[in-house]
Amino acid sequence: MSEKKIPYKIYLEEQEMPTAWYNLRADMKNKPAPLLNPGTHQPMTAEELGGVFCEELVKQELDNDTAYFDIPEDIRNFYKMYRPSPLVRAYCLEEKLKTPAKIYYKFEGNNTSGSHKLNSAIAQAYYAKKQGLKGVTTETGAGQWGTALSMACSYLGLDCKVYMVKCSYEQKPFRREVMRTYGASVTPSPSMETEVGKKILAEHPGTTGSLGCAISEAVEKAVTNEGYRYVLGSVLNQVLLHQSVIGLETKTAFDKYDIKPDVIIGCAGGGSNLGGLIAPFMGEKLRGEADYRFIAVEPASCPSLTRGTYAYDFCDTGMVCPLAKMYTLGSDFIPSANHAGGLRYHGMSSILSQLYDDGLMEAVSVKQTDVFEAAEYFARVEGILPAPESSHAIRAAIDEAVKCRETGEAKTILFGLTGTGYFDMVAYEKFHDGQMDDYIPTDEDLAKYREMLPKID
Ligand SMILES: *Cc1c(COP(=O)(O)O)cnc(C)c1O
Repeated sequence: MSEKKIPYKIYLEEQEMPTAWYNLRADMKNKPAPLLNPGTHQPMTAEELGGVFCEELVKQELDNDTAYFDIPEDIRNFYKMYRPSPLVRAYCLEEKLKTPAKIYYKFEGNNTSGSHKLNSAIAQAYYAKKQGLKGVTTETGAGQWGTALSMACSYLGLDCKVYMVKCSYEQKPFRREVMRTYGASVTPSPSMETEVGKKILAEHPGTTGSLGCAISEAVEKAVTNEGYRYVLGSVLNQVLLHQSVIGLETKTAFDKYDIKPDVIIGCAGGGSNLGGLIAPFMGEKLRGEADYRFIAVEPASCPSLTRGTYAYDFCDTGMVCPLAKMYTLGSDFIPSANHAGGLRYHGMSSILSQLYDDGLMEAVSVKQTDVFEAAEYFARVEGILPAPESSHAIRAAIDEAVKCRETGEAKTILFGLTGTGYFDMVAYEKFHDGQMDDYIPTDEDLAKYREMLPKID
């Protein structure tokens, strides 16, 4: 193969952007388990889901067979404001690490929301608008999803109601203001605005909230208000579908230079960026056309794949959502308060859970001080200030590259750089001041929540 000189950044032309999202489920032999009705334990029907989600999104959620979904023109036009995103050859990092490995990262931080979440936010807002809805409700933890959704809603003229985990609401006032700049209303959760919020506050006075609580509040708000639906920024099949734009662009860019990655690495919270990045590559693996190693990287303080149970569980604390079969730590699990690195959700996408259970993907967990060390190293060498979430992938990519230095293998490593960390400077500050520690849950801690998993037969 003639080695074309690989540029620092492989850009695609606008017309090279994918025109359809790829649905990985179409190529999975073992399909992800269906969502169950929390009352009857029967698979959720389109009609039942339609009370919570938009119609078109329900179709996408339930479709395990259609391989490609056309990306509507309006969504493609929105994408063009910040896509195609660059695929970067990390020459500087390779040199600094003195590794023979070739390292690439797909950078999703080049938009105001600062992460890949906008890829699904615009799609979900678009279908809500098309259905003639007034608005959408959602939860946000650190604030990236809420920011992305606010941007998408303001573009389309939809009302956007965000329940923000209370401790983030207080610790991250700037994200809150970005959301309000885009016209969203932001409520700290748990709140007195919803029945479930009141109940949680009565049971746990003074609680600083969790994603699971905020989801329950947002769902309740949507189902009790005419013209509103709930949207979710990760975990769901539809979100992984929209995020396939990341992997499809990456594949097109690699193909231009005849590059085939050996290892593909992504951080995993609910699994959307990783599911999107690996989608076309995993598709090839499932069809027997190529082989790749896939590595999900999660925080040691919230280790759903590496230490969780593969079982049906609630997606939220208030138990109002359908049950999903996934690797989970239990819906009552809340990571230690000193965990600053994001990726705090107790469960994992059903698609990724199934792939992991089938041995098609690996998972590792990393400690947060190691993550921030990698983040700072990367910022100094490659210039970009990474989000703590993204830095989990950086940590694992550096570790792989260092292994290559030891073995002399010139592997090609790809990782997803999901976003920037400008709003995470309090976490960086803790790290710099030596005030960050690595609380890792004990087996006893995890067993306590495992026992509380719903019993489904
Ligand atoms: C939300 C977020 C993640 C984790 O979410 P996934 O659904 O697992 O991709 C990772 N990185 C950034 C920057 C995020 O905002």
